[in-house]
Order: sequence, then C-alpha cells, then structure tokens
Amino acid sequence: MRSILTIMAVSMVFFAGCDGKKSDEAEFEWTIDRFDDVKVLRYRVPGFEELPLEQKLLVYYLSEAALSGRDILWDQNFDCNLAVRRTLEGIYRTWKGDRSTPEWAAFETYLKKIWFANGVHHHYSGDKFTPGFTEEYFEELMTGTPVDVLPVDFAHYDTLFETVRMVLFDPALYPLRVNQAEGEDLLATSAMNYYQGVTQAEAEKFYADMAAAAGDDPTPISYGLNSKLTRAMPKYATPADAAPYERVWKEGGMYGEAISQILFWLEKAQDVAAGSQKEIIAHLIKYYRSGDLRDFDAYNVAWVRDTVSHVDFVNGFIENYGDPLGIKASWEANVNFKDTEATRRTQIISDNAQWFEDNSPVALRFRKAQVKGVSAKVITVAVIGGDCYPATPIGINLPNADWIRRDHGSKSVTIQNITDAYDKAAEGNGFREEFVLRKEDRARMKEFGGLGGNLHTDLHECLGHGSGQLAPGVAGTELRQYGSPLEEMRADLFALYYIADPRLVELGLIPSLDVAWAEYASYMMNGLQTQLSRIEPGKNVEQAHMRCRKAIAEWCYERGRDGDVVEKVVRDGKTYIVVNDFKALRTLVGELLGEIQRIKSEGDFEAGRDMIETYGVKVDGALHAEVLERYNALDLAPYSGFVNPRYELVRDINSGEVVDVRVAYDESYADQMLRYSHDYSFLPSRN
Ligand code: ZN
Repeated sequence: MRSILTIMAVSMVFFAGCDGKKSDEAEFEWTIDRFDDVKVLRYRVPGFEELPLEQKLLVYYLSEAALSGRDILWDQNFDCNLAVRRTLEGIYRTWKGDRSTPEWAAFETYLKKIWFANGVHHHYSGDKFTPGFTEEYFEELMTGTPVDVLPVDFAHYDTLFETVRMVLFDPALYPLRVNQAEGEDLLATSAMNYYQGVTQAEAEKFYADMAAAAGDDPTPISYGLNSKLTRAMPKYATPADAAPYERVWKEGGMYGEAISQILFWLEKAQDVAAGSQKEIIAHLIKYYRSGDLRDFDAYNVAWVRDTVSHVDFVNGFIENYGDPLGIKASWEANVNFKDTEATRRTQIISDNAQWFEDNSPVALRFRKAQVKGVSAKVITVAVIGGDCYPATPIGINLPNADWIRRDHGSKSVTIQNITDAYDKAAEGNGFREEFVLRKEDRARMKEFGGLGGNLHTDLHECLGHGSGQLAPGVAGTELRQYGSPLEEMRADLFALYYIADPRLVELGLIPSLDVAWAEYASYMMNGLQTQLSRIEPGKNVEQAHMRCRKAIAEWCYERGRDGDVVEKVVRDGKTYIVVNDFKALRTLVGELLGEIQRIKSEGDFEAGRDMIETYGVKVDGALHAEVLERYNALDLAPYSGFVNPRYELVRDINSGEVVDVRVAYDESYADQMLRYSHDYSFLPSRN
C-alpha cells in the first residue's frame, strides 16, 4: 500500500493563479542537468490542467503504475545493476567526507550516468561505463558507509563489496550489454539478464521447438517475450545440465514484487476509467496475473481497437532491442493523452494510408493490398517509465505482434511535447552554424526543421512500420540480429520517400517541399557524420536506429557519388555533408526502400546482413575524430533524456476528498532519481 500526498485545498488558488502562457514560457527551465555525454531536460505537459478530474485521476494512477516497474528494467539490463545502484546511492546519501573534491565529483557523475542508463552500461551503445575515480577511493567510500544503507540482501558485505568493485573496475568483465557481432555466442558475450546458463544455440532451439510445436498457428504468441530462460533457479539447487526452462515475469513469478505494485495501481485506474478502457485495463491485469501470452495478445487486440479514449498508456514487456536474439522484451511504460490540434496532421496521413501504400516504390507483390486500421495520433506524454525513461522515444507504434498488426492494425503516436522540449533546449546551441555549410540549408532547417522532424516521425510510425507484406512462407524472423536495423530502415525510408511527395503539399500537410529538403539535409548529415558524436573513439555503430541511419545515408552517398547527389565538402579542414540534388536523392531513397522491403518480405538474411555490415557498422576513424572534436568545442551533449513532472493529489481540507491533481515541474535530476529509488524500489537486489 502506498500513502498519498495531501496538499491543502488552498494551494489550488495559488496554482490556478499563474499568469498566462507567455511569461510562464520564458521562465521555464528546459535544461536542468549536464554530465558526460548527457543533457537532462524537463518537458511540459500542456493541457493537463484542462483535463476533467476523472481523466486527471486516471493519468495519476497510471503514472504510479508506470513508475512501479522501474527496477524490473534495471535487473533485466544486468543482474548486478540493482546491487550497484543501491550501493552507490547508500554512499551518496550518507557520505560524511569531503564532497568538494574531484574524486567525489567523478563519483557523482558516475552515479548520474548509471541512473540515466538504468544500469552500468551506456543506454545507447551498451558499453560498460568506466568510473572516473580510483578503486582506492571507492574502498574509502565503502568503508565510510554504514552497512544498513547497503543492499546486503544481495550478498554478505564482503561479497557485495567485491562484486561491485569488479563490476565497476574490471573492464574485461561484462563489457557489453548487447553484443551483436556475427560469429560469437551472443548470449555468452552479452551482459543482459534475459538468459542464464544457456548457449545461443540452445536458446534458439528452445524457441524454434516451441514455435514448431504450435504448428501452423495463424495467431502465434510472442514466444519467450515475458520470461528469463535459465537453468538454475535461485533457492533451488538445479543440476547445471538440467533442461532450460522459463521463469515467467508475472504476479507471484519473477519480478512478482514489482508487478503486484503495478497491479495495485492498475486496479485504481480501472475504477476511474470509462467505457472500453475499463475492459482494456482488465485484460492487462489478467495478463500480469497469469503471465500467459495469449492474455497479452487479448489485451493488445482490445488496446489497438480503442481509438477513442483521450487518455492512453503503455505498460508492459514491449520492445526487444535489449535482447541480442530479439526474443525477450524490456519493461516500459508511458501515460499520455491526445493532442487534438496536432492530431489533425496524422489523421490526414492515416486517412490516405492506402494511397501511400499503392504508390510506394516497392514491388507490387510486397505491398499490402489493403492497409488495415492505421490509427495515428499526436500525443502529450504525462509520464515516462522503465525503458522509456529518462531517454525516451519520440514516436511509438504498437503492438509488435505481426499477426495483430495484420488482422487488427496498429496504433502509432508522435510525442510532440517531447520533441518540443528538444527543440526548445537546442535553440541557439551553435550546432547548425558548425555543421551546416550552406546558408540556404540552415535557413530551411530553422524554418521547417521542426515540422519536417515531426512529419518524419508520423510517417515512420503510422505508415512505415505498417506497410508492406511478407512473401508466402516467410515467418518474419529470418533476419535475426539484423531484423531491428533493417526494420527501422524500412520505416525511415518510407518516411523519407513520402515526405518529399508533392501529394503532401496537396493534402495541406506541408507548405512546400522545402520541408522535405530540410529533412533530407539533416538526415544525411546525421547519418554520415554528426551521429558519430554518440560513438566512443575506436568503437563501431551498434544501436539499431543508428545502424539504420548510417546504412541509408552511406548507401545513398555511394550510389549518388557519380551524379554528385550527396557530397562531402572539406573546407578549412572541416567536413560538411551537402546534398546537391534533392530530387535525385529521393529517387535513391525509393530504390533502397524497394530493396529493403524485398529483403524483409523474402527473409533474405544474407542480403540483410551484407547491407548492414557494409553500410551500417564501420566507422571512419578520421571523420569520427573530427566530429568529436567539433562537438566538444561546442560543448554539446549527444544524448538527452528527461525528468518527469511530479503529480500530487489535492484534497479538500474539510472532506478529504480528492478535488484536483496538481502537476509540478520542480524536481532536480538527482532528487527525482533518489525519490524513485526510495518510493518505487520493490525488488530484491538479486532476482
Ligand atoms: Zn521505428
């Protein structure tokens, strides 16, 4: 049970009395913290105050459910993460020594980094962090910290100390969260905690057998999505040679302590939800209780059909980017409501979905004869949690199960208050002046970059992922570890192709193709050059979306070189990416879209692997060094993430009844992390 903060009703008057949007806007602090390669921003939730009380309460309860699963993700990312975090937080909260030394600053930075990454591996590259302080200093901190603030549920003190020390300071241990290098055992070489004591071949066989046993199921469950595949179970001595089995994430199962809390809040949400949403939440509750993936599918079908509820949410084991085999899903959550004004834009797109499909440069047999239920909206997020926090996506398209998408369609969203926060925080940071050579490109980006970016996300999510069809006999899993980057390529290429279609002008979505050319110039610059700022020297590109962008840009660059479509211009020792022929670039984009769709439709693993390995992985060292130097000179952070607003129930001073939900934007990054660790820490340190 949780207690609920009470604020006297009189404070409502104070909060209702804010004086208009303008002065509010000017005072709002968008960037609130900065460390290493990360900038932490705040986002606003415009429109929350205007929601009726019922919907505010729904947002509130779902928000609590969205925060309650935080530790699940930490444990999924790596099984020592919770022990490390709790140890460092114990030190951070109680250390009586000097807090003004460089060592302490390095310690604090390290803690901020693992908070941001939900673990000791970088949230994007997956590389393990290297502390900026020494082992000796860590030992000094540990000895100065009372044992009762340390996670002794993990192990005996000495073992805890030794474990945390090795995790932090031995670079050879657990170096990578998700290894995707072809030819190695991806499970043995990845630190993620989705498998234990099983080889890649065993895991692949386990799930291939499971799928085979189901026969020709036209509506297959997402095999293995919500479990850890293991041989050994804690507290039970199972022989190491026993057959692999699944520990399912459900109430009473693995992560059951956190899932019970999620259920507590979902039930409250169910009470205030209206119409079909009550039923949807009931489906989710049933699934969290049973752990049965058929129940999850039933929930997804109900959820995807609901296009009318103003408040909506995601809460569960959803995306498989964190599993090198692409089977297991990380826990994530968000709560949102519709941005009615901006949704007009995505409405037009989805109303014309069939036209886009029919006119795509994809071979006829790989196109969908009938595009089903593309529901697209622009949303305002109210809270982000799990794998969506603090770094969060700006667009989401769910559910992921192919058969549900085929039979019931999918829901696609663009998260506008997040992109707005990015734009606001980036104003005047000098990036464009440094990396964009031509004045006309800079002017176009300034005027149309925001719209171009949002529209790209709309098209990527609401048409791109939903387009195309598989050839008969193709299951959709043939592309294995290349499946994710290739799928992102498909969606990005679809967006890039159509953002430059004159049809968009006719539909009133863009004033002119200048919006497209702003997007093309940004995309090529990012894919060929500036996204390298996110990679450490000497490393290759690993993350799926980055591989996607690099592959598209490099392929178009190579194909278009003779025709001078895209050029690398060097001036005063600085490299610039310049698009010389936008229309020719669009033709190349169309060609590549056709090929990527063919690869997916035919499940052509070799071609997919060659595409990614040739264009999406290897980094040009000299260009990389140059980008990092220019980036550092501007003091730009390549990554951003967000703190959530704080929601509080406002009660009437006399009756005690809830009369409002207040939203506050007042928490610092460290305060929020410590509060979450205190209020939403339901799991033991070892699971
Ligand atoms: Zn995508």
